[in-house]
Amino acid sequence: MVTADTAPPFPRVGGHPAFDLVDTVHWRLDERRAIDTLASFDDVVAWCAQFGVLADEPDALRSLARRDPSGAAEEHAAVLALREAVHDAVFAASPSAVGLIAREHVAALARASLVRGPDERSWSWRVPTDLTGPRAAIAMLAQDLVTSDLSAARQCADDACGWVYLDTSPRHNRVWCTAAGCGNRNRVARHQARKRA
Ligand SMILES: [Zn+2]
Repeated sequence: MVTADTAPPFPRVGGHPAFDLVDTVHWRLDERRAIDTLASFDDVVAWCAQFGVLADEPDALRSLARRDPSGAAEEHAAVLALREAVHDAVFAASPSAVGLIAREHVAALARASLVRGPDERSWSWRVPTDLTGPRAAIAMLAQDLVTSDLSAARQCADDACGWVYLDTSPRHNRVWCTAAGCGNRNRVARHQARKRA
C-alpha cells in the first residue's frame, strides 16, 4: 500500500467515526491501488481534529511528536492496528481484532478522566493530553462501534473501493459508499458493458 502526502479533509461517509477511520484507506480491496491517507502521526492528529475527538490542541500534539519521534511513530502504528481491527472485527468477526479493541479500550479508560460537559448536564470521557491521546480516543470510538447494533454495517459493492458505512437508508438498500463516486462509476461501467454486448 502506498501512502498519501496530503489527506484532509478526510472522507465522512461511514455514519460512525470508527468507520470513517477505516475509510482513511482508499481502494482497500485492491492491493496495487490501495492508498493509506494516515501516513504519519501528524495525519492521525489531523484526522482526530477533523472529527473533534481530541482533548488537546492539534498543534500541542504535533510539537510533542517533534520532540519524541519514536513515541509518535509507535502511536501511529498502534492507531493503524486499531483501524484494521475495527474492519476485521466488523467484517470478519475476528476474535483477535476484538481482543485488541478490548485491550486498547481498557487501557484508554485507565488513563482517561470524566469531565463535566459544556452544557453542565452530563460528564464525558477526556483522553490523556499526551501522545497517547489519539490512540485512546480512537479506542473509545472502536469500542462504541463494535458494541452497537452492526446489522446495518456494509462495505461498498465496488470491486476495489472497500469503504465501509452504516446503511441508514430508509429501505436499507444502500450498496455504494457514495452515489456520486462508486455508484456513478459502476453505473457507467455497466452501461458500457451492455453496449459492447
Ligand atoms: Zn465505494
